[in-house]
Amino acid sequence: MTNVRRTENKPTSKQETKDFIAARRRIPLKLRKLGRHRAVGLCWDDQKSVLIEVDSRLTPRNTFGTVIHELLHAAYPDMTEEEVLKGEAIIASNLYRYGYGPVREIGVDKS
Ligand SMILES: [Zn+2]
Repeated sequence: MTNVRRTENKPTSKQETKDFIAARRRIPLKLRKLGRHRAVGLCWDDQKSVLIEVDSRLTPRNTFGTVIHELLHAAYPDMTEEEVLKGEAIIASNLYRYGYGPVREIGVDKS
């Protein structure tokens, strides 16, 4: 294999450690009909808090991909839509192949 790039999941400074801890906070996920927004998923980020909303009418597998998509928007607000779509495709399809399936409904706010 050529062009191998090794990445490590390890913080290297105090700020990175702080950012890493903050990034592990649970992001609220709400399932509801999103017809008015003409989107299957939304990521609301006002710099203080983040909320992800996903259309409750999606299939479990599409919900899985959409949640990953919106989490990528939350994690990397400056990513282009094209980059997020690529990330979603890589992560969702591979997690699915590894046996990690669609989102369980337990703990999800469906109001
Ligand atoms: Zn998007």
